[in-house]
Formats: sequence, C-alpha cells, structure tokens
Amino acid sequence: QSQELSQVRIDYHAALQALVEDGTRMVCTGRMHTDRICRFESLCYSTEAEEFVFFHSNYSVMLPNLGSRRFQPALLDLSSVEDHNTQYFNFVELPAAALKFMPKPVFVPDVALIVNRFNPDNLMHVFHDDLLPIFYTMQQFPDLDLESRLFFMEGWGEGLHFELYKLLSNKQPLLREQLKTLGRLLCFTKSYVGLSKITTWYQYGFVQPQGPKANILVSGNEIRQFAKFMTAKLNVSLEGMPHEEYIIVFSRTINRLILNEAELILALAQEFQMKTITVSIEDHTFSDIVRLISNASMLVSMHGAQLVMSLFLPRGATVVELFPYAINPEHYTPYKTLATLPGMDLQYISWQNSEKQNTVTYPDRPWDQGGIAHLDKIEQDRIIKSTEVPRHLCCRNPEWLFRIYQDTKINIASLIQVIRQTVKSKPGPKRQKWASSLYPGKVRDAKCQASVQGTTEAKLSVSWQIPWNLKYLKVREVKYEVWIQEQGENTYMPYILSHQNHTFSDNIKPFTNYLVWIRCIFNKNLLGPFADVLLCST
Ligand code: UDP
Repeated sequence: QSQELSQVRIDYHAALQALVEDGTRMVCTGRMHTDRICRFESLCYSTEAEEFVFFHSNYSVMLPNLGSRRFQPALLDLSSVEDHNTQYFNFVELPAAALKFMPKPVFVPDVALIVNRFNPDNLMHVFHDDLLPIFYTMQQFPDLDLESRLFFMEGWGEGLHFELYKLLSNKQPLLREQLKTLGRLLCFTKSYVGLSKITTWYQYGFVQPQGPKANILVSGNEIRQFAKFMTAKLNVSLEGMPHEEYIIVFSRTINRLILNEAELILALAQEFQMKTITVSIEDHTFSDIVRLISNASMLVSMHGAQLVMSLFLPRGATVVELFPYAINPEHYTPYKTLATLPGMDLQYISWQNSEKQNTVTYPDRPWDQGGIAHLDKIEQDRIIKSTEVPRHLCCRNPEWLFRIYQDTKINIASLIQVIRQTVKSKPGPKRQKWASSLYPGKVRDAKCQASVQGTTEAKLSVSWQIPWNLKYLKVREVKYEVWIQEQGENTYMPYILSHQNHTFSDNIKPFTNYLVWIRCIFNKNLLGPFADVLLCST
C-alpha cells in the first residue's frame, strides 16, 4: 500500500516538476483554425474558471505562435462543424511560476482526445459530427489508441447515445461536468485537441442553405471501415440471421410518422416478394439495428436522423427516403450524399408526398416541433398555403419545422412506381458487380518523331508504353487521351485513342514546336495523370 502510494507520489512529483520546469508544449497541424488539431504536453484546465491554461516556462513551445490572431476568431474548432462560433477552443496563458499560488494540479495520465460533441441527442449528428471524426482523428495519431480517453467539453450530459461513444476507446469518456469532481486544476500529460473534418460530407446550413460539403474527401471505403469497427464493438453476431433477402422499414414512433405503415409493409413485401420488417430506435437496441441493417436489401424510412444508419447497409442495397408534403428532397440531402459517396455503392431513391390530403399538420404544437400558432395570422396563412418550403438557413425556420414534422399517409402506388424506376428486378446486394475504381498511372517512355512533307505538310508520330500498374490489373477498357498543343498557343487538339501509338497529320505544320500531353483512361471515367509533357518539333 505505502509502496504504491509513494510510487504515485514520485510520479506526481516528476509530473509536477515537468510542468513547472517545462511548461506547456503545443505543436499543431493545420494552417487555419478550421483545419487545426493540436498536440499538447502539460495542457491544464481550471474547472473553476472553465478555461484551458497554457503555462509558459523556459521550455514551453507554442506552434503556431499566432499572437493575438489566436483570438481571430479562435485557435481551432473543437467540434467537426466548421467555424461554429459556439465551438471554439482557446486557452489562457500564465507563467509557470503562477502554479505556486494555484490549486495543486491533478494529472491525467491517459492520452486525452479533447473535443466537443455537436448534438449528442441526434443520431445523424452523433455519427457524422462525432463518431466518424473521432474514429479517424484517432487513426491519424498513433498514441490515440484504444487506451486513450475521450473528453467531451461541450457541456452536455451523456446524451441519448452515449453507449456509441463508449465503443471508441476502452476508457470511459469524461464529460466537462465530471472534471470538477477530479480536481480544481487538471493537467493533461499528453493530449490532442480538435477533430478531423476529413470524413464529414454535409454542412447544416449555418451560413448558406444546407447541402453537401463543397469538397468531400471521404469515400464509401472509409465509412465502411468505420462501420465494421462499430459492428465488431457492438458484438453483433450474424448467426441465426435469415438467409433470405429482406426489406427494412425504419420507422419513427414519436413524430413525422408514416400513417399507413402496415399497408406500406404489406405492399413492399408483395411487390418485391421479400420479408419486410420494421425497426425503430425506440424498440430495438443498436446491436439489433446494426445486425438487421447490415444484411438488408432495402431500407425505407422517412427523412430523419435514423437514416444515417444506412452506413451499415451492405453494398448494393437500396435506400428509399420519404419526404413529407412541401419538402423538396433535393434541398435536404444528408442521406442522399452519404448513399452516393464514391464507393458507397448504395442505390438512393427519394419519394415526396405531393398530395395535400395525405398530410397531417400540427400547427398547435410547440414551435420546435413545428407549431406555428405563435406566428401572426398572415404568416400562418402563407405557410399553410405554400406548396414548397423555400430554401432557408438552419435551424429555426418555422415553415421548415411545420412541414418536416408532418405525418404522411404514403401513396403506395406512387411510391412503388418510383422505386421500380430504379430497382428493376429484385433489390439487394448480389445483383451488382463492383467495378473496381483504381486509377491508371502515367504512360511511360513517350516518344515522338516528326516528318515534314514539303513546305505545308508535316506528321507527328507519337508512341508510349502502358502505365506501370496496368499489367497487374484487370481493366475492362483502356484508352489514351492525347492533347497536341502548339507551343505558345493556349488551345490544343484532343484525341481519344485505343492504341499506344498514333500518327497525327491534321493541322500539323512544318517547322513548329508542339507540346504533347498523354494520359491513360480506364473504363471511360477513371482519368490518370498526364505524363511529363513531350516536346516535338516538326
Ligand atoms: N427520433 C426517433 N423517433 C422519432 C423521432 C425522433 O428515434 O419518432 C430520433 C431521431 O432519430 C433523432 C432524434 O430523435 O436521433 C431527433 O429527432 P429530430 O426529429 O429532432 O431530428 P431529425 O431526425 O429530423 O434529424
């Protein structure tokens, strides 16, 4: 016992000494606050001030050293939502000598990942803003392994889906409120602050109407690797699963209801000759939902956060998203964007209720559930008469909330027709062949030979070798694109060719310099890089 204590005390003294002598050390990646993640040694947090503290000493390091630009607007985003002004991270600075007058620091021995969750009660936000970014931030830094600990600083309680966050590391995540119970001044031995945004695909409409992110950097492969990890951590066993193919209706039970769900299930089962089952967040565990979804042929659901679970669908499955009256499916595409990420290999279909008699509105509910009774009469009338919610910013547009919280009686015939347009025979995983999507390398050993015939005519013979990686690949179709550009001109003549050599004579002039650009194309749309430009003189 005393041995153990003294051991702790020695560590404690060493840690305290390191803090006092070395101060805080910070090195970050990223050029802007929106793409920055920082690694710290001896970053502290005052639970009384609710501020992070950077201690300066002779050995402290602060990179980037931004001076007061650190406040314009912040050092970094603590959540994966870009530049949200409630999610900024900063610290206050003190000389390490001030520690003498401060509460005794309590050291956190685990490697810490310090972040904000954005909206832990909404499943789409949980997966898109938190779980995927945390998972891939941990992959980016090797010491963020399963023994590291998550610290959620946004100030919420556990939230509805805390069990999912717990799967990401072996240590219990800690919430901001819980830090108070650990001590007045906490010092993280080693920590990372901030989240990678590299996996996010959607922007929620804070500065412009919601839509896919401008520059999506994630593909279906990374989403699926994450899904595989979560599936394993959820202890999902596929034993005893039905061998037959089946359709899932993911239903909501509180609001935005499908009013004729039984009829819908029957119709789907009959049309596709498949078992059709319902699941809901309320009636199933995540383990059950993931197990069922990961073998389903089709997932049918109202627009809503539960649809993020389609990331667990097998390749080739179909997502059918239903939209209430006056909600334009093209304007709300978080799940469409997910399903159509490159390599996600899901079929996506949207259906919208276009019949007013099939919608049920709730004007008298509270505003956040779509009520509009608080608005003036003219505005209420306008909303009720409107046939489409105009594009709007997040998050409190009353017309949007009014319409998105409608219940819907699905017009079965029209829905089946829309599905049939895309799903011709049976839906499901085994129907489609997965085109490989590997890109060609550069063509090699490009050469050209010129010949001049008289004073007006010339020919250019160009040849090259196949890209190096082609000999290891099975590619359905290999083509070459060649651009011939007269030196000094900014236009060029493009050609698509099937062979590795070609003699060009159209518009080739004698005694002229040509630049020749060549690249390989697999399967019509997989464009490789251009080889080094070839200079050819006739
Ligand atoms: N939710 C649910 N069943 C319902 C209504 C909501 O499971 O009947 C869940 C939903 O999946 C989401 C959260 O409650 O995780 C918040 O739902 P909300 O309607 O506010 O958001 P949306 O689904 O439109 O993103």
